Formats: sequence, structure tokens, C-alpha cells
Amino acid sequence: MDLNQWDIKSFANMMSDAVFIMGVDQEERFVYAFINNTCKKRFGYTEDIIGKTIEEGANPEMVDYLNHRYQEVLKTGETVIYSDTVHGRIDETKLDPVRNSAGDITHIIAVTRNITTIENQRQALLRSNQRYQSLFDYNKSGIFELDKNGRFISLNPSGTMILGMDEKEMMQNSFHSIVCMEDLPQVSEMFQRSLDGETVDYQTAIIDANGDRKRLDVTHVPMIVDYEVVGVYGIARDITSEHRQKKQIEDLANQDQLTGMPNRSAMKRKLKEKLRSHQKDGYVAVLVLDVDDFKLINDSVGHDQGDELILELSKRLDQAFSKRFDIGRIGGDEFMMIGHPKSRGDLTDISGILDHLFSEPFHIENRNYYLKSSCGITVVNGHNHQRIPEDVMKQAEMAMYSSKKRGRGLTTFYDESMNEASRRMLFLEQELQLILQERGLFVHYQPILDARTGQIKSFEALVRWHHRQEGAISPSEFIPVAEESGLIHQVGEFVLDESLSMLTKWRKAGHQDIRISINISVKQLEDRSLLTMIQQKLDHYGLLPHDIELEITETVVMENIDKVRHTLDLLQDKGIYLSIDDFGTGYSSMSSLNRLPFHTIKIDRSFITDVMYVSKSRAILRSMIQLASEMGMTTIAEGVETKEQFDILRTEGVSEVQGFYFTKPVTACEAEEKWLKNPENSRVTMGVKQGKDSV
Ligand code: C2E
Ligand code: MG
Ligand code: MG
Repeated sequence: MDLNQWDIKSFANMMSDAVFIMGVDQEERFVYAFINNTCKKRFGYTEDIIGKTIEEGANPEMVDYLNHRYQEVLKTGETVIYSDTVHGRIDETKLDPVRNSAGDITHIIAVTRNITTIENQRQALLRSNQRYQSLFDYNKSGIFELDKNGRFISLNPSGTMILGMDEKEMMQNSFHSIVCMEDLPQVSEMFQRSLDGETVDYQTAIIDANGDRKRLDVTHVPMIVDYEVVGVYGIARDITSEHRQKKQIEDLANQDQLTGMPNRSAMKRKLKEKLRSHQKDGYVAVLVLDVDDFKLINDSVGHDQGDELILELSKRLDQAFSKRFDIGRIGGDEFMMIGHPKSRGDLTDISGILDHLFSEPFHIENRNYYLKSSCGITVVNGHNHQRIPEDVMKQAEMAMYSSKKRGRGLTTFYDESMNEASRRMLFLEQELQLILQERGLFVHYQPILDARTGQIKSFEALVRWHHRQEGAISPSEFIPVAEESGLIHQVGEFVLDESLSMLTKWRKAGHQDIRISINISVKQLEDRSLLTMIQQKLDHYGLLPHDIELEITETVVMENIDKVRHTLDLLQDKGIYLSIDDFGTGYSSMSSLNRLPFHTIKIDRSFITDVMYVSKSRAILRSMIQLASEMGMTTIAEGVETKEQFDILRTEGVSEVQGFYFTKPVTACEAEEKWLKNPENSRVTMGVKQGKDSV
């Protein structure tokens, strides 16, 4: 070594470690001592230790190592390292022997380093590792580490149980190798996503090391070190029995117990899927098959044999059709088949196959039974609007009933004419179109009265249609048709024209405060030109916006709230009163009304009818009235039919009333005759039958 003594000493003095170079003679007295500055400061040694024994000169804190460790170094001739904790400070001391040329140990160099911080960090790390380790060791879920190729690196004890493999088997396997084939694509995809940094959950089937099939719920978490994914953690829960139970329950819910075929709800779901997946291409065919007179057979042979017959039939159907159709049992003696034919022509053989299938007798308990069935078929394609499974099933059922009507053992294809309802709608639509051209609709008026004074506040305009053959057709029937066909705009305009012209007339006669309430369909509200149309009519008749009130039914408003809110706001801004009709029949709350621009709520007739008998109705009624008044809204009770109802409504504080108890809707002439002759007396006598009970 080239460095001279001074260099080494001054270098040693600059060190933050305590350095003590000692030479001791036979009697264990210090004959040499180099003590660096740190050692002096930390342990209080000075060079006057020379000549003293270890016991005499040793710092009490250091006596131990100076005595024992010193001996150890001398005895073994090896370096000794140990650590000591004094007053919370952790020191690590290293004792190195120094030999002379003869190989004898002449000195010992002791270097003491304060390792408190490092040691504390190390301990913290150790404890943290232990904490994580216990999460790993004692977790009920199987936890395993996989490398980037999916090979196992480690597996916790639960994992060993779940996967049924020991450490040796584990090291030879990858996770993918135990996954069931059908799930492999999914598992590979999930593993890759996790390698790309995503945490993923999925379920998969595996075959464990004992050959048992298990179902696992797996989470893959990317293992990230220095910002890089180095592998994937797997957390697996064994859900085999849960899954089995769930499947059993599902099977019970979806399976017909007798035949093992899908039941009605399962078939409906299948149909829904088919309708969706074949939306663009090809056809979906639904066949419904009902055994003719099965009830008679069942009653005569008994239920057990009846079941046998159905079971036998299900087997024959399965044999004949399972390649082309999904087959289910949707009722006692009713089967349904769903297929995906290329064309309607593909189904022409059905009738023949069924004939053949039923031509053989059903042989149960040594007896032969001859059965027949009626079949209905409907075919829908991508261009067909019928996308609702229930509707499609209904078509097939209608066709089946038509087969039954025509005789036994027949097959009928559904056609539009079978649908009574749609035929009726078409009829109404055509007739309505005609009557609108002829201006043959008319309007009746029903007064809405102040509940205290009987004063007429408004007349509700109710459209009427008298059909030449059918007589009166209710608006409840034709308004939906008008909405569906788009004729509602003309109906609406007609009612507006008619009722505003009446109002103008009544205004001229001096009835300044009476308003007109007009029912507006949500379809009209969706029409952008509604506002302009109303304004034009008001201008034309010289009326003001607050002369009219528009009634909109609660359910339709709430179902279409996003579409109509803007128009409602604009109408209110104009100064037109808005009322919510048939309130209480929908699912809105009073608080949802708060956010909408309604001035009035018309409490639905059902509450008024029930109020005498159902105590809850009265409570609801009371809170509706109270809340509405707190919100500054007017309440109208519609459909008041009796004095008793009226009395309750008055007690509960309803603002206005309307109903047959006061008067049915009447023609404009009758209204004029009854109430509008004299401007001072536009009130309805309340409770004529009770004589003096008028208000
Ligand atoms: P709505 O707006 O709730 O009208 C009240 C209905 O209850 C009317 O039936 C009325 O005649 C009837 N009514 C009034 N008081 C009583 C009573 O005390 N007891 C009973 N049982 N019924 C009573 P209507 O005229 O058959 O109208 C039925 C629905 O058709 C109306 O319900 C309304 O939603 C709709 N409607 C009527 N006219 C029009 C219209 O011009 N345009 C639109 N969009 N819808 C209309
Ligand atoms: Mg109404
Ligand atoms: Mg109503």
C-alpha cells in the first residue's frame, strides 16, 4: 500500500464509522491504539487507554465485544461481525484480525457502523413481507404467481388444495394446461389482457391434478415490477358446488320436468335470441303444436298414462325435428319449435311429417292410442316489425287455433288477417280518415267546477265520434289508433278549432273567466309545429294563452319525459296552463312533478271511486292534495259520481271537481242552454238530488 500513515489516519478520521485499531499484549493490555474521531466522540475513548487492560479501559457499552469478540477473533483467526442495540441505536461491528509477516495476529481493527435506519427499514420490509406472506399463506382463495408464459412460479396452500397439485407438479405445469379445452380461448384472452396491464375476472372449468372437473372464479392481476408486467397473479375460488347448484336451479326453472325439454320461459328466451341474431339474415319460424282433445284422453286414461303419451310424443318430435328446430314443451299438451329456415318453402313438409308422426299409434301399457295435433306456424324475417317474442308466439298460437277451428290434425300458417285486433285497428284507421275528411267528429264539454262555489272554471273538451254502423266509438279506443297512424294531429287540430270557436262565442256572451281544457296526446307534444299551430289558433280566435289549459296523461308524459320536456317548458313560457291528467296511475312521484311545469293535477278517477272503500286511497288522496297545494298547484278530482265522494273531497280540500255527479259531458248547445245563458250564473247546482245541498 502506497498511502503513508498520515493519509490513512486522516482518512480514518473523516469516516462516519467508529474505527478502533488495537494491539494487546499477552496480559491483555493495550500496547497500541488508534481511535478515530467518530469513535472518540461516540464511545469516549482516548489514546490514554494504552497500558490498561481491556476491563480497565473498555467503555461499559463495548466491554462485551472487546472481551468476548476479541477472544473469538484471536481463537478463530476469522473476521467476526455482530450487531448490538444500545438505547435504541443499532450498531454493526466488524472485527478484523491483522497479522504480521509470521502470520501471528498482532492487531484487531474494529469498525462500528450505525445501521439503525437501514436495519429499521429492513425490519419494516421484513414485516411487510410477512404480512403479505400471511395473506398468501392463509388465504382461502388459491393464489398463484404465473410467469409471462403462464407457468406456475408459486402456489399458496389453498391453491394446492384447489388445483390438487403439489409443488413439484406445479413447477411442471402452466395454468393453461389445466383449463378445460372449451374455455381455453377465453382464458388465453384474459391472460393476455392481464399481461397488457388489466385486472380481469372470469369463470372457467379446469381439470385438477386428480382428474376432477372444477369450476373456478378467477381474477388475474398483472404483476408489475419497475413499471413492467413481469407476470400475472391468479386468485382462484372454487365455485364448483355453487355452480352446480345454480345450474340445477336454472335447469329446474328452464326445463320441463317430464320431458327434459326446455319449458315455456326457456323457449321464449331462445326465441328472443333467435330474433335478435337473425335480424338481418333469413327467417325465424315458430311452430306451436297442440294435441287435439288431449284433455279428454287425459281424463279417460288417467294422468300417469297421459304423461306417458306426452313423453312418447316428445321423443317422436325430437327424432323428427331436432336437427332443424329447437323443441320445447310450453304447456301440458303444447309444444313449440323454433327454426331458422331459408325460406317459407322449407316448411311445406312439416304437415306431412306431422301426419306421419301421428299415423303410428302410441302404445302405452298394452293399449294403442291414436293422437292428432293441430299445428300453427309463423315465419318472421328481417324486414318484419314483429321482434317481440310474445307477439311472434301469439301469431303461431293464433294459427294453431285456426287449425283447430278448421278440424283436427291440421297445420296452418299465420297470416295477418287472423289478428282481430290489428284488423280492428286498420278498420278504425280507415274510418277515422274518412270521418276527418267529412269533419264528422264533434266535441262534448264537461264542466270543471270550483269545489266550494260550484262556479264553472273550465270546460273539458272531449272528442266524440258517432259511426254510421257502430254508433258511438269511445275516444279511449280510437285515440290510440289515431296516435299510431299519425291522424292524431288532425284530430287534435279539429278539437282545438272547435273548442276555441265555442270559447270565443261564450266569451262574447260575457263569460270572461271560463277556460277550455284540451287533451293533448304525447304524439302532438313531440311535433315541433304544435306550438305554432296553437298560437295561430289563439290569434285567429282572438284568445290568450291562459284561456286554455292542456291536459297530458301522466303515464305518457313520464315515459317520454326527455322528448317532451322542452315543449312543455315552451308552452308554459307562453303562458298556457298545463295539467297532468289521470294522476296517480303512473309511477311518478309528487316530487318529480316539482321539476315539471304543471299548473294542475287531475287526480285519477280510480282514487275517487276507491275513496269510499279503500282507506289507503283516502290517505293517498289527502297527501296528494296537501302536497299539490304546498307546491302551489291546483287539484282537480275527476270522475266524481256520488255525493259521498264529493263530501270527502271537499273535506280534504280539493280545489276543483268534475264528474257525472254534476253532469256528464254535453254538447255545446246543451252547455249554453244549461249554464251559459246568464253570465252571472255560470255555476252548476251541486247535489240536485239532495235538494238543499247546492253550494
Ligand atoms: P280523460 O281526459 O281523463 O277524460 C275523462 C274521461 O272520463 C272522459 O271519457 C269522461 O267522459 C269520463 N268521465 C267524466 N266524468 C266521469 C265520471 O264521473 N265517471 C266516469 N266513469 N267517467 C267520467 P271519454 O270522453 O271517453 O275520454 C276518454 C279519454 O280519451 C280521455 O280521458 C282522454 O284521455 C282521451 N280523449 C278524449 N278526448 C280527447 C281529445 O280530444 N284528444 C286527445 N288526445 N285525447 C282525448
Ligand atoms: Mg282529460
Ligand atoms: Mg282523466
